[in-house]
Amino acid sequence: MIIQLQQGIPAELKENILKQVSEIGYKANEVITQEAHYLVAIGKKEFDIRHIGQLPGVADIHRVSEEYKLISRKWKVEPTRIDLGDGVTVGEGNFSIMAGPCSIESEAQIESVVAHLKENNVRIMRGGVFKPRSSPYAFRGMGMDGLKMFHRICRENDIKIITEVMQVSQIEEMIDYVDVFQVGARNSQNFNLLDSLGEAQKPVLLKRGISGTLEELLQAAEYIFSHGNEKIMLCERGIRSYEGAYRNVLDLNAVPVLKEKTHLPVIVDPSHGIGLRDYVESMSLAAVMAGADGVIYETHQTPEKAFSDAQQTVNFWESERMIRRMRQAYDLRESF
Ligand code: PEP
Ligand code: MN
Repeated sequence: MIIQLQQGIPAELKENILKQVSEIGYKANEVITQEAHYLVAIGKKEFDIRHIGQLPGVADIHRVSEEYKLISRKWKVEPTRIDLGDGVTVGEGNFSIMAGPCSIESEAQIESVVAHLKENNVRIMRGGVFKPRSSPYAFRGMGMDGLKMFHRICRENDIKIITEVMQVSQIEEMIDYVDVFQVGARNSQNFNLLDSLGEAQKPVLLKRGISGTLEELLQAAEYIFSHGNEKIMLCERGIRSYEGAYRNVLDLNAVPVLKEKTHLPVIVDPSHGIGLRDYVESMSLAAVMAGADGVIYETHQTPEKAFSDAQQTVNFWESERMIRRMRQAYDLRESF
């Protein structure tokens, strides 16, 4: 059960609601986000929720049976839109394109990607500075020096930054240089990191785990929300299967299913999803038609020279064509 409290509720009214909730045998968790003040009450007993709903100080109340609650469409029917500032918004009503290299490599590389994005009116650039790599000997990112450079160039060009945070201790040093924190597939169930990102208040793009179910993804998002941060986007980036012909299986089934279950925006990553540059465009167009709110993909001036994920990175010519076609596909979808 979710109880939304009236803004600025006096302490004695809140205490009274908590008392009544506990008398029914429910355990209440208090959640205060950027948007509202909630009590998420967990319990089994059947009772008439009007009993709580009519108490002074209650703004709204709903029974939600899933394990995830605040992110459920059963609680909030309206889609969530995340405002990144300067006219950049993610969520229903527009299609967000986020593009850039797998890894930030140099000043010249950032500048060339930024110029490409500006030419195509793309306002969000991706790029990792802390890279989770399967091999400890692979390039692991430029770290904070790379992030500061990335930030300076993007700020000069009115472009927002999305980059991966790998551990709790990095949040504080990164936060002023980031517009969206990415939680990578390998960290999708790092609950300490999710808790801390809930407190950090910055928008988060949460990737599905490599072998993660949708239920697990949704519960991971609930961790962030229930620690105070409503600004969450979910990302389908492919799941591991027995098939060896491509890197992962991009599960586009997830898009309409997630859109039905949650009010959060759903973003698709076709680069990690298929892992082969020749097919990134097809899968990005399929993602548009499946109902995604945006895509995030890897592009580089000379993909074959990229420090990481070269095999799935498209060049600027391919990227430009993808952007044009995705926008056409989105307009077609919206005209249905
Ligand atoms: C990435 O975006 O470069 C990345 C490492 O993604 P994932 O966590 O989905 O593998
Ligand atoms: Mn990558």
